[in-house]
Amino acid sequence: MEQNLFVYNTLTRKKEEFKPLNAPHVGMYVCGPTVYSDVHLGNCRTYISFDLIFRYLMLLGYKVRYVRNITDAGHLEGDAGDEGEDKISKKAKLTQLEPMEIVQKYSVGFHDVMAIFNTLPPSIEPTATGHISEQIELVKLILEKGYAYEVNGSIYFDVEKYNKTQDYGILNGRNLEDLLVNTRTLGGQNDKRGPLDFALWIKAKPEHLMKWPSPWGVGFPGWHLECSAMSHKYLGDQFDIHGGGIDLMPTHHTNEIAQNVASCGKNPATYWIHTNMLTVNGQKMSKSLGNSFLPYELFTGEHSILDRGYSPMTVRFFMLQAHYRSTLDFGNEAMEASDKGFKRLMNAVALLDGLKTSATTDVDAAALQQRCYDAMNDDFNSPVLIAELFEAARIINSVNDGKLKIDAANLEILKNIIATFVFDVLGLKDEQAANDDLPKVLNLIVTLRNEAKANQDYATSDKIRDGLQKIGFQLKDSKEGTNWSKI
Ligand code: AMP
Ligand code: ZN
Repeated sequence: MEQNLFVYNTLTRKKEEFKPLNAPHVGMYVCGPTVYSDVHLGNCRTYISFDLIFRYLMLLGYKVRYVRNITDAGHLEGDAGDEGEDKISKKAKLTQLEPMEIVQKYSVGFHDVMAIFNTLPPSIEPTATGHISEQIELVKLILEKGYAYEVNGSIYFDVEKYNKTQDYGILNGRNLEDLLVNTRTLGGQNDKRGPLDFALWIKAKPEHLMKWPSPWGVGFPGWHLECSAMSHKYLGDQFDIHGGGIDLMPTHHTNEIAQNVASCGKNPATYWIHTNMLTVNGQKMSKSLGNSFLPYELFTGEHSILDRGYSPMTVRFFMLQAHYRSTLDFGNEAMEASDKGFKRLMNAVALLDGLKTSATTDVDAAALQQRCYDAMNDDFNSPVLIAELFEAARIINSVNDGKLKIDAANLEILKNIIATFVFDVLGLKDEQAANDDLPKVLNLIVTLRNEAKANQDYATSDKIRDGLQKIGFQLKDSKEGTNWSKI
């Protein structure tokens, strides 16, 4: 089935047909987390949105190289500025740990959370500290081209000079005068020639923990630099999609484009995709505002704003019920509605295998299938897709109740819609089914163990019993048979 995907491109401010530079290959770079603390639910929304995009591109047959970095150095407090302490170093000092202990702890935590939400791992997950030499080379190149200057061991990007021949505000559609008017002049920025200039390389103070030698002395790279260096290394001068949360667009992504254009003459990505924010009472969820909560708090309900806990797939479903470019406000009522909706969908899915076919059909599953594709082709419109899947659920229930007839060919398509869109594209899992599977697997293991025992293969039967014991299950033999229980 030929599908024409349309994607909203921040760069042009319109929906455009998606035409990869080098089909069937697609290169996609998404800014990853700064691993100085636990990711909050807002961060998760952004990565779940890109997971949906990644999954749909793969469904369309593209071979996607998805690069998502880990920021483990260079991201300073205050995000946009070049002042303040490195977030990871600060946490390391506060907790008296090595910066790399902080990085390890929160990288592992991030991966765990991503797995719980059933997001697929990216193809490459490079770290800033693993690419210092690439970043130094990039600074050298920008200096050579004349778009940067050195002051006291730090290197700054010269925005006004760049803007003479290029459009610095191309991504957010603002001109330089506008941007200058709105720039705060912070104290301590005296080293910079212009208020919009930003650091490519920052001289390290003696007490700074994460620092490297460079042609300009000991220092560390600026945050924007790492993404330019790593996207270039793994995806080349130009690739298809660059993504991140919309909050990264005005500064981080604007500066990334300037760095790439200054060094190799090209805007790195043809499509810039930005996800909108998860909000709480209309305010962006963020650590610094103190309104963020962690995924596990939502799972357990252990947070003052939560009435109760919700399963990871309910949360994923809740997120996907909003379009990735709309804000999504978190609330107990909305979560309750998503919980009901998700269960309704899964209950229908569970009936699918038992449906009886007829010689005639009241159902046009092919049309429904095309509507599912149409929804996703319209800038990955997951809420419209979910509405179509509720229609699929209604059909399944009606066939099950004998109110509608379906023939074998249409049932096959219906099954395909569910497998493709519920599981592959939306990345949902049937949590109930997963729980139901465990007893079946355990019963099978117990049967195998009893067979070994009956064959007097005690080595094997003991191995199984001891192995189960180690992972928390106890076997009890009685006249009626063998029972297992959780220790
Ligand atoms: P950070 O670790 O702060 O660099 O953020 C990691 C990613 O999460 C970035 O792409 C941000 O744009 C995104 N992000 C931060 N807060 C939110 C939020 N409230 N909703 C959605 N995405 C967010
Ligand atoms: Zn980035």
